[in-house]
Amino acid sequence: MAESRLMTEVGHTPLRRCLVCRKRRRKGELIRLVYTEGKGVIVDTGQRMPGRGAYLCGDDRCLRRGLTVKVMSNAFKKKVVIDGNVRKSIESISQGGLERSGQIR
Ligand SMILES: [Zn+2]
Repeated sequence: MAESRLMTEVGHTPLRRCLVCRKRRRKGELIRLVYTEGKGVIVDTGQRMPGRGAYLCGDDRCLRRGLTVKVMSNAFKKKVVIDGNVRKSIESISQGGLERSGQIR
């Protein structure tokens, strides 16, 4: 009980789980991916696109493992295509765009 109270006291920021490592982090520290009809998997930089979202944390390992057709197809429950642009934009985000505090206490 005490622990879950601590979690919710971090400024009421919703927590999401990374697809790969399953760690819970604040939304701002995760990269949101959305599946859209026609475009396939895209990076939702504003974190407000409609549709089913999947989250990856900024860890290199998670990004590498998460950005596979297998993991993504699992997350979105359908066969997806991952465009090269997705990788590129994620790389640029993970190189500094992402909030890097990672120190929720
Ligand atoms: Zn992760």
